[in-house]
This record gives sequence, C-alpha cells and structure tokens, in this order.
Amino acid sequence: MDIKAITICGGGNATHAIIPIIRKQFFGKLNLFLPFGDEANHFQELIDEKGFLTATIRDEKIYGRPDKVSKFAKDVCKEADLILMPLPAFAHEQTLLQVVPFLKEEAIIGAIPARSGFEYAALKILKDSKKEKVKIFGMQTLPWACRIKEYATSVNILGKKRSVGMAAFPHQITSKLTSALSRLLDLEIKPLPNMLTLTLANVGQIIHPGIMYGLFKGKEKVSYQKETIPLFYQGVTKEIAKTLKAMSGEILTLTEKIKTMYKNIDLDHVLGLQDWLIYSYEGSIADKSTLQTCFVTNSAYQGLRAPVKKDDDYFLPDFQARYLTEDVPYGLVVSKAIAQLAKVDMPIIDEVILTISKWIGKEYIKGDSLEGKDIKDTRIPQNYGINNLEEIIAY
Ligand code: NAD
Repeated sequence: MDIKAITICGGGNATHAIIPIIRKQFFGKLNLFLPFGDEANHFQELIDEKGFLTATIRDEKIYGRPDKVSKFAKDVCKEADLILMPLPAFAHEQTLLQVVPFLKEEAIIGAIPARSGFEYAALKILKDSKKEKVKIFGMQTLPWACRIKEYATSVNILGKKRSVGMAAFPHQITSKLTSALSRLLDLEIKPLPNMLTLTLANVGQIIHPGIMYGLFKGKEKVSYQKETIPLFYQGVTKEIAKTLKAMSGEILTLTEKIKTMYKNIDLDHVLGLQDWLIYSYEGSIADKSTLQTCFVTNSAYQGLRAPVKKDDDYFLPDFQARYLTEDVPYGLVVSKAIAQLAKVDMPIIDEVILTISKWIGKEYIKGDSLEGKDIKDTRIPQNYGINNLEEIIAY
C-alpha cells in the first residue's frame, strides 16, 4: 500500500498524539484539516511560533508538525491517500460531508475510533457524492489515552492499548491496511472481519452509559465535594455489575441471533464484557473472578472519577459528558436499532437509554420503538435508508 500523503481531520487530544507518532516513521506529506471554529488559524500561529508539537510518552519525547493546516478541505484533502478522523463521533458526518467531495478515487478514509454505525453514514455520503470507489475503515478504540497539555504545542500520551481491532470496507483491503496502519501508528492493529463487529463490540456503549446509570440513577441531584466525587470504574458495585452484565448479555443475544440467521457472518470477535476486560487488561487486573472485580481491581482504571461539573463549591454529575452524548446516540441506540430489525428484545438497554435520554434532554425511544423526536440525530441504519439485516451484514 503506497501512502504518500496523509490528512488528519480535527485538532483534539487524539490528533495531537497522532502527529508526532506518525512523523516518527512517515516522511511523506502530512496535512491537517481544521474546519471547527477558529482552530486552523490558532493552530497555524502556534505551530509557526513553536516549530513543532511535542508528545511525551513516559520518559520519551517525540516531535512532529503538519506540513499544511487549513480550515478548507479543498486545500488539504485533494492529494491525500489516507484520511484519518480521530474525532468524537458526532463530528464524523459533518467532517465527511466537507472532505468527501475533494477525495481522489483511490483514497481511504477512516474513523479512530469508529464507535457504532460509522459505515452507514460514510457509505451514504460517498454514494451521494459519487465517490463510491473511496474505501473506508474504522478502529475499535482510540489506541492511546492522551490529553493536550498546551494547544498545538504539547500532549501527554498516558497509555497505549496492547492491540486494537480494525475493520474496513471493502473487506479485501483490511489485511494490507492493517499492516500499513500498524507501521504508521507504531501499534499492533488486528484485522476484524466486518464493520458490524465494530458496532456490536463497541464496549464503550455498555461501560460508559451503564456505569453512569448505576452511579447516578435516583441520585441525579446529589452534589459532591471534590474528594467525594464517585470513582468511575472502581465505583462499580455488585448491583452496577449486574446491570452491565445484563446489557452485555443483551448484545450477545443479538449477536447469536444474527449468527443463527446468517451462517456466513463472522462475529466471533464480539466478546462478553468480562471476557473483553480480561483480554484487554490481562496484566492489570488483580482479581479476574467476577465482572465487578475486573473493574475494581484493574490498576489501569485506578483513581479515575465520574464526570462532574462544578456548581459553586460543589460538583454535580455531568450529564453532557461524552460518556452519554457520544456512547448513547453513536452506540447503544445503534445496537438497539439493529436488535429491532433482528426482533431481539433489550429490556435493560431500553431502560438505560430511556433514563439517559432524559438526562441529556433527548428523546430516542417512544412507546416501544426508536421513534422519538431526536432519533434523526443518531447513527441508526434506518436513518440512512438501511432497513434490513442483509445490508447490515454485507459491510
Ligand atoms: P477531543 O474532544 O479532544 O476532540 C475535539 C476536537 O474535535 C476539536 O478540537 C475539533 O477539532 C473536533 N470537533 C469537535 N466538535 C466538532 C464539530 N462539531 N465539528 C467538527 N469538528 C469538531 O476528542 P479526543 O480526546 O481527541 O477523542 C477523539 C475520540 O477518541 C472521541 O471519540 C473520544 O471519545 C475517543 N477517546 C479519546 C480518548 C482520550 O484519551 N483522549 C480515550 C479513549 C477514547
């Protein structure tokens, strides 16, 4: 796979980490597309002043800078062989709409991480723009925990996943793309057989809304002092673990039903939550005996607190946190929509979606189905004219 020019979209934490990582082994053109607000000007000014971006990974420092930065896709996307979107899922579609018209036919564009249903939006936009030859991919998670220290100047890379799954469409490119991205991102990337795996194996859709539900249902108005803000993962009680296990069970039931209906679909990478935790955090979980202990004895999760917002001298749960506004409309609701097509009930996931919808001021479920007024703002397949499982399993 010959990649001579790469464009990165967006200027958040993940982009700050990816620029120096890619620059370590990539000597082609590296451009940055920053359509959001005044980011392009701001980034350009600062990078010109500082010269390069510095990423700190433990004791190591790595450096890099983009060749060109622009607010306009036409300036930075035309020559790209590879376009990376390390963005929150709610920015995918508006970014694709701007980028796609300028892509060359042989380009490959993907989301890091994909979250759920990325392929429905991406393939529809490519089709509408008559760019059907462009290929897409999605990664299962963001491989790094990273935080900007100073915008366009420095970033801390706090941790790196052992390995990350990636699916592409058409499937024939998956293997070559996995090797190319593994080299570029200095990481083990494992090929996944289809994009539906990304949707069903999106564990963030269970963990983030499920723990928020468990921690704050019935305690929405409780305020906390700094030191009493609930621990997020270590705050998983037996009761919360029961909810998480039930949610994971409902996703597995859906997966099994699809496997029974379509014998050729490979969904073997969709794991139960406890199995996924043990696989992903093998070395850092002290007690693997139950789902609860996999959370509370996981050193990678130590000390991380629930998202809160400041309210005078106290803190309240932050119901606009990504854990809810990203993982419900671009996660749980998508799985629920597929379950509706497969005629699988999800009573616990319904209850979590209904409760969180109220918290975030949205309506996704009305009556028993996904007909709430805000369903149009989610990434369910039905929003892209996909109303049957045959099409969903084809990607
Ligand atoms: P971020 O919040 O730092 O990204 C913000 C950037 O996204 C903005 O600077 C802007 O460039 C772009 N953006 C935001 N809203 C936009 C909009 N409406 N239109 C266009 N562009 C917009 O996000 P991040 O921390 O880099 O995370 C990227 C993804 O990775 C998210 O899905 C996040 O949940 C996931 N993730 C991040 C981490 C981490 O450690 N940072 C860890 C795990 C997963």
